[in-house]
Amino acid sequence: MPPTPGERRPVVVSGGGIGGLSTALALSRIGQETVVLESMPEFKEVGAGIQLGPNVFKMFDRLGILAAIESVAVFPDSLEIRDAVSGEAVMQIPLGEKFLVRYRHPYAVIYRPDLLDALLRACKSSPLIDLRTGKKVIDFEDRGSLVDVKTADGAVVQGSALVGADGLWSRIRQRIVGDGEPRRAGHIAYRAVLPIEKAPARAREHRVTLWAGPKIHLVHYPLRRGELLNLVAVFHSDRYEEGWDVFGEPAELHEKFKAARPEVRELLGLIETWRMWVLCDREPIKVWSRGLVTLLGDAAHPTLQYMAQGAAMAIEDAVVLAQKLQAMDGDFARAAVAYQEERYLRTARVQLTSRFVGDYVYHPRGAAAEVRNDMLRRLSPESMAWLYDGI
Ligand SMILES: Cc1cc2nc3c(=O)[nH]c(=O)nc-3n(C[C@H](O)[C@H](O)[C@H](O)COP(=O)(O)OP(=O)(O)OC[C@H]3O[C@@H](n4cnc5c(N)ncnc54)[C@H](O)[C@@H]3O)c2cc1C
Repeated sequence: MPPTPGERRPVVVSGGGIGGLSTALALSRIGQETVVLESMPEFKEVGAGIQLGPNVFKMFDRLGILAAIESVAVFPDSLEIRDAVSGEAVMQIPLGEKFLVRYRHPYAVIYRPDLLDALLRACKSSPLIDLRTGKKVIDFEDRGSLVDVKTADGAVVQGSALVGADGLWSRIRQRIVGDGEPRRAGHIAYRAVLPIEKAPARAREHRVTLWAGPKIHLVHYPLRRGELLNLVAVFHSDRYEEGWDVFGEPAELHEKFKAARPEVRELLGLIETWRMWVLCDREPIKVWSRGLVTLLGDAAHPTLQYMAQGAAMAIEDAVVLAQKLQAMDGDFARAAVAYQEERYLRTARVQLTSRFVGDYVYHPRGAAAEVRNDMLRRLSPESMAWLYDGI
C-alpha cells in the first residue's frame, strides 16, 4: 500500500557511490526525501578516469549537474583503437560536430573524484537528502509498510523503502537474489593517473586511445581539463582470486606487455605505482526487486568495463526509478517492479556486450584479431545508437 500523506518516510539508500548519490538526487527532484548510508568514513571515488557516453549526459541534464560536469571534463576529438603489436589504426570514431549533432550530447572523459564531487555538491544543496558516512548496512527487514535498515553500529534507520546501491559485493543483493560471489573474468586491470606534462606529446592529445593486443590492452586519455593522464592496462591472469584497489606489480605488467609496441611500453614505464583490480561481473538477471526493496547500479547488473557504461547504467537506473515512483504516486513496490522491467534488457545487453568486446575486440590474436580489424574498419557510429541514444 502506498503511504498516506503524513506518514511518508525517507527512502533509504545503501551506498553513496555514483549510483547511490544519483538515486538521492533523482528522488529529490520528485520531492522524495532520502537517507544515504555510506559504509566508508567519507564519500570517495578511486583516483582514476571514467568515460561518459552521450546517454549519460542526457541524465546529467535531468539531474541538473550538466554545467558542473562540463567544467571539469575533457571532450576528446575521437575514440581510437590501434593494434598493440602492429600499431595499425583499426578504428577511429570522430567525436566532433557530426557526432554531437547525431547524438545531441557529447562524449567525454572525467576524473572519478570530480564526477562524485559534482553529485555530492548537488546532494548537499538539497534539503531532502540526508547524507551519512561510517554507516555500514548489514541487514534489513521489510515490514510491509516500512523497512528497518540495520547498520553495523547497532542503529536501525526506518524508511519507506530501501535501494541497495552497494556495488558489486552488495549485501542487499544477497537477501534479494542470493547468487553468491561475483564471477571473476580472469582479467586484471592496473590503473594509474599522472600529471600530463610527464607524458609524451602524443599521449597528451585530447583523444581516447586503446591499444588492443593478444590478451592485453592499454587505454589512455587526458582528464581534468587536460591536466592529468589516465592509464588503464588490462591483461589476462587467473593468478588472482581477490584484489580491489590494492597495489599491482609493475614487473608482471611489463612481462605481459613485452610484445607490445615501444609507444605502449613507454607509457607503462612512466608509472611506478599501479592500483590493481580483479575484474568481475555477474550473469544478467531480470528480477532484482522484492517488496519495498530494490537494487541499483553494480548491485543489480555489474558489468565488465569494456563498454565503459557501468556508471552510466547506474545513473540511468536512478532517473528511471524516480520516474516510476512519481508515475505510481509513491507506491514503491509497484514502482520498483516497473523500474526493473524497464531496465533489465538494456543493462543485460551492456553486461553481455562488454564480455564480447573484452574477448573478441580488445584481446583477440591471429585470425580473430584480423576479423576484429575488418569489422571495426566498417563500423559506423550508428552501430552505437542503441546505447548512445539513451533512454
Ligand atoms: C577498471 C574499470 C573501469 C571502468 N570504466 C568505466 C567507464 O569508463 N564508464 C562507466 O560508465 N563505468 C565504468 N566502470 C564501471 C563503474 O565504475 C561502476 O559501474 C560504477 O562505479 C558503479 O557504481 P555503483 O554506485 O553502483 O557502485 P560502487 O561504485 O561500487 O559504489 C558502492 C558504494 O556503496 C558503498 N557500500 C558498499 N557496501 C556497503 C554497505 N554494506 N553499507 C553501506 N555502503 C556500502 C561503497 O563504499 C561504495 O561507496 C569501470 C569499472 C572498472 C572496474
